[in-house]
Amino acid sequence: MICVSIGRGRHRHVIAEHKHLVENGIGLVELRLDYLQGEVQVKRLLRDRPCPVIMTCRRKSDGGRWEHSEEARLTLLRTAIVEGADYVDLEDDVAAGVRRYGVTKRIISHHDFQKTPADLTLLHKRLASMDADVVKIAAMANHPTDNLRMLQMVHASRLPTVGICMGDIGAPTRILGGRCGAPFTYATFNDDRVLAPGQIGWRQMREMYRYDSITAATRIYGVVADPVGHSLSPVVHNAALAAAGIDAVYVPFRVPAEQIDEFLSAASRWPLSGLSVTIPHKESVLRHATAVDGLVQSIGAANTLSFTPAGIEAANTDATAAVESLAAALRGDEQPQNGTLGVKTAVVLGGGGAARAVAFGLKQRGVEVTVTSRTADRAKKIAAEVGCKAVEWAARHRMPSDCVVNATPVGMHPNVDETPYDKEHLRPYMVVFDTVYNPENTLFIKEARSVGCRTVTGVEMFVRQAAIQFRIWHGVEPPQQVMRDALKRATASAKQPG
Ligand code: NAP
Repeated sequence: MICVSIGRGRHRHVIAEHKHLVENGIGLVELRLDYLQGEVQVKRLLRDRPCPVIMTCRRKSDGGRWEHSEEARLTLLRTAIVEGADYVDLEDDVAAGVRRYGVTKRIISHHDFQKTPADLTLLHKRLASMDADVVKIAAMANHPTDNLRMLQMVHASRLPTVGICMGDIGAPTRILGGRCGAPFTYATFNDDRVLAPGQIGWRQMREMYRYDSITAATRIYGVVADPVGHSLSPVVHNAALAAAGIDAVYVPFRVPAEQIDEFLSAASRWPLSGLSVTIPHKESVLRHATAVDGLVQSIGAANTLSFTPAGIEAANTDATAAVESLAAALRGDEQPQNGTLGVKTAVVLGGGGAARAVAFGLKQRGVEVTVTSRTADRAKKIAAEVGCKAVEWAARHRMPSDCVVNATPVGMHPNVDETPYDKEHLRPYMVVFDTVYNPENTLFIKEARSVGCRTVTGVEMFVRQAAIQFRIWHGVEPPQQVMRDALKRATASAKQPG
């Protein structure tokens, strides 16, 4: 069950949000009394309540906004109990002083904004002993394995237990709590108004992650990256899973570079079924692979991991996606045949993983490729690996080419007024391919269209690389149009870089 936290300054706004949530199918809300201005009217909030409520009043030291005395706070919590609130949240240091009364259930909570405590089992035992109906532990995650420890603690508890890791490293615990037996997870009313670090909006929790349909049998997939908050892979994969009726969820895992080894070593404890891999892990994950596909072997980087009984299989879907996108645009053909692409010469802008995958894919299809990068050595390295040419960044416009590919982040949100290639050098016979997908119509793409070039957008490549992953993991045809629509909707409403 999703419990939505409501933190508003005015009673009428709390009541209105509560009503709105219930009309939208939410069955439990947390009313944050510490957000209310003026005298808190517990009776008014409980009267005619459309669904059960948790009443919570947090001190500043616990991440709340309560500005009055501790005595007044405890009086308020006791009033909530006397007035018959469904649940009241009592922090572990005050719980012993607040007696059980009537029908109100006691949530005994513990918060740690610095770390996830080392011995969660011992902490849980202490909280449970305080006449708890529900135990709640919310602690900052500093390491991805903090999530695992938290979820394992929830799973092992006989008493209903909510265990949440805060911060963006902790997001998996918010999404996967129910899978481990938690009675509910917390979500915010509004994506922009988080009441605790790392909270996820209730619509996203319900519609994108389908929290209520996650069970112990639901398989876990995800994207591993740092940072990960901007990734649109969860949007695309979860939409596809829902459309295909597959019992799996796709979760963002923020894993810092130095923690990837420990994270992958613990994969079976989640247990993970598959991962998309992006910056900064595309090369380092190969240390853990027991099998790699031909493209990984040639490119030296993977963007896809599959966890099988035999070990970790690594694949690279970027190069194929880039070539498929280009081929489809050139021929209007969804399933390009093997053979030449129809372009003879291409300039690839960029010296990172995307440039390397695109250069390799094009070269494999017989295109004469020139790589150019702001940092010349990076382009030279790719050229040596792929077997193509490299030129100085300043010379990029002088290279004769019938295809220009942007594999840099130039033009990506919020720098939408930038382009990596001057318009005056574009010619109508050129094919222009921008791997940037947020926004879809970058300045580079718009200028190319205005000159009369054929264009390929990063949305096409992104959808195709995800679609190939979907086929690898689930063994069924991916619903590509669903994936494309989900990505376009997300980029249209995105406020952050993609
Ligand atoms: P990366 O490894 O960080 O490489 C980025 C490259 O862009 C580097 O060579 C960097 O140059 C260059 N660069 C950055 N800012 C620049 C600027 N202002 N002017 C000129 N060059 C600049 O990243 P990546 O993994 O290759 O990804 C690059 C981009 O490709 C991403 O931002 C994303 O938009 C796109 N991409 C799209 C898809 C898709 O499916 N559509 C998939 C993967 C990537 P320096 O070496 O000098 O820093």
